[in-house]
Amino acid sequence: MKLIGLLDCNNFFVSCERLFRPDLHDRPVAVLSGNDGCIVARSNEVKDLGVPMGVPHFKVKDVLSEAAVTCFSSNFTLYRDVSSRVMSTLRELVPEVETYSIDEAFFVLNVPNEEAAVEQLRHIKQTIEQRVGVPVSLGAATSKTIAKYASEKEKRGSGVCVLVGKEWQKETGTTQLSQVWGIGARLSERLREHNLHTVADLLAADRTRVAKLFGLGGCRLFDELSEQPVYRLGERNRQTQKSIMSTRSFKTASTKKSVVADAISYHVHHAAAELRELGLQCRYLQVLARPNHYSDWTLRQGSAECTLPAPISDTRVLLTHAHELLDSFFDAEVPYKKAGVVLGWFSDADIAQPDLFGESVEAATAERVLDVFDAINQKYGREVITFGRAVSAGAWAPARELLSPRYTTNWLELPSVKA
Ligand SMILES: [Mg+2]
Repeated sequence: MKLIGLLDCNNFFVSCERLFRPDLHDRPVAVLSGNDGCIVARSNEVKDLGVPMGVPHFKVKDVLSEAAVTCFSSNFTLYRDVSSRVMSTLRELVPEVETYSIDEAFFVLNVPNEEAAVEQLRHIKQTIEQRVGVPVSLGAATSKTIAKYASEKEKRGSGVCVLVGKEWQKETGTTQLSQVWGIGARLSERLREHNLHTVADLLAADRTRVAKLFGLGGCRLFDELSEQPVYRLGERNRQTQKSIMSTRSFKTASTKKSVVADAISYHVHHAAAELRELGLQCRYLQVLARPNHYSDWTLRQGSAECTLPAPISDTRVLLTHAHELLDSFFDAEVPYKKAGVVLGWFSDADIAQPDLFGESVEAATAERVLDVFDAINQKYGREVITFGRAVSAGAWAPARELLSPRYTTNWLELPSVKA
């Protein structure tokens, strides 16, 4: 049988921080968002304290210090590197992998029966934990939606779970629809209004009625949960990706154009790299810069957008457009506190038509340059080579006061071993 598996790293950012800090195993750890604003990852100990996900740091400061929680600023250099190690190990073990997020991946599992599936998941779990060192949970089922649920189910137990046929049927009566992947607060409220609470409730309903009430999304959900897979591997990522946004607050507000321009370069650089990683091109670019929310300048925020002449993923072209857009609204009186870019209107890079008068030779050379560019940055760290000053170390760089070392990607920050 062919099953869909989901690998999910447990409390991923926390696990990355613990990797080189064995003293923090079994100790409460939390990771903060950019500018140390909110809690974005919690160890089980912190979850058990009742600290919610996404809560502003200052609101729970007392609780955290009372429980001696160790906090870290987000160290994305470290997380991306650990993530790529997890994903490449997974790729060695299974034939097809779709990276879904920094810490999750779907994959194909070809096995004779369910026992073999459990065995295979155990093997993947052991191998990744042994080689990379971060704890993972795995689920497998007939559809992506059920696989996602399965991966959550044994998170604090054995860490592996296969839900197929009867095993899944048994779960449906007690699984609330609000726990299902893709069902947000609004949809789950609408489902409740129609007396649909558990997965079993939904599956007992008439599919035509579900279609009438909840449209195509409802039908897909119905099919996925009744083991009729709708989402294939690799599909969801590309098709549902509508835009890429890269923004950040500055450590201190600035009226200098060079500072805002550096930040814009940095964001174009990262968004374009992500675009190419997804195999996409864009035709929409927006540049924005804002003063502090709570200042008198709040109405002076600026943004400008443009439609690009042809679908593109070339960082250099995007940089040129982005700086033109910034020129069009930049106001030297305003103390800017945040800047960023949005890319949109995506098309598949493989099937994109070059524009009618475009130089195809030039395009091919550009593609090769960018391939080399991406390969170097993927291998040696994101900012090893850049166009212009697109690095995160500028005057605009956000506050990261509790940052851990970049243990795995920087020679100067390697962990030291005392013997
Ligand atoms: Mg996770």
